[in-house]
Amino acid sequence: MNAPRPVPVSPVSVTAHAVLHSADFLHAQLRATRRDRVVLHAGVQINGAPHLGTNVMQTAAFQLAAAARERFGVEPGLRFGALDNSPCETRACPDTGSLYERSFRHALGESRVRELVRLYYGALFDELSAATGVPYEVETYTHQQSRVAFREEFLASLGMMDTLRWILAPSTGMVPVSFPCPRCGWSQKYGEDTELLSADAGEARFAAVCLDHGKYLVDVTPDTDTYIGLTTLHRNLVKERVAAREGDALPVIVKGADWAPGCRLLDEAFLCYPGAVPPPRLFTPVVLSDSGAKLSKTLLREGTADLSAETEPWMLDATAWTGTMAEYAHTLLGLGALMLSEPRHFERGYTTREVARLIAQGFGPAAGPA
Ligand SMILES: [Zn+2]
Repeated sequence: MNAPRPVPVSPVSVTAHAVLHSADFLHAQLRATRRDRVVLHAGVQINGAPHLGTNVMQTAAFQLAAAARERFGVEPGLRFGALDNSPCETRACPDTGSLYERSFRHALGESRVRELVRLYYGALFDELSAATGVPYEVETYTHQQSRVAFREEFLASLGMMDTLRWILAPSTGMVPVSFPCPRCGWSQKYGEDTELLSADAGEARFAAVCLDHGKYLVDVTPDTDTYIGLTTLHRNLVKERVAAREGDALPVIVKGADWAPGCRLLDEAFLCYPGAVPPPRLFTPVVLSDSGAKLSKTLLREGTADLSAETEPWMLDATAWTGTMAEYAHTLLGLGALMLSEPRHFERGYTTREVARLIAQGFGPAAGPA
């Protein structure tokens, strides 16, 4: 009989011998900027219950923050951005086929969004925070975009758009902006009828069209409360520019490894700003179906995710976990500790089948205490 295979088996990584712990990716900037605080930035989706991939990224964020404290003596914090700008409902114009959508924020309102964040993440984050000693906060996109710094960076990005458009949208050069109708909160998904009328460093004026209420004008200044809807890459660029100018902490961006190609573009966009240095990035392992596609809410909803028999319902929908929240957090921390035990285990993906195997083997000797 064959001996059980050690867990996990990972190939030698590109960073072998250069990176001893995955938190070391922020070491150079920490030294260069002499900061004694770091804030890790990560995202939370509220458009449905999180799947395992999302929770693995978030757990790793807590553990990487704790590792930064241990390895560099810095005070860590964790800031989650809740994407309440995700589309909640969609309609098509019967004449043109143009798509309109209403975000969770506009469809459900602020207090219902807060409830969703608490429902999907509150208890888990409290457990992870208690276990790692890393404090966290959650801020909605709605709140982020309302800040003066966000508006200033948005206006600055408009001023540089002739350059940025071919980085943020290399194929088309189209970087649409959308503004919800002030009367109903619906906005055109691809902003094809949104027009920039004028812009300078302190103000921009747009015209947009609502399916029900026709044309409306929108003014953006650092002080207006106009809601700003941006494409994914543009939004992340502005958010990272805001994080870079905030306070005395070094901002560190934590994302699933599927974000690496997009972050390549964000780095290039960042370098267009005179003297700007892109923030350090930490990429976390993605959780994959059997075909190698990452778990995705869309594929799960469509039934096109290729899932092995070992895939547990809670891996697809965390609310299906039947144990206590403390047990769930313990399982995630065990997985995270195993993945972080060597960079080669962190710089790879895991199928749900492999996750089930690792859990069944009690994470193996490499995991250590959670
Ligand atoms: Zn309207």
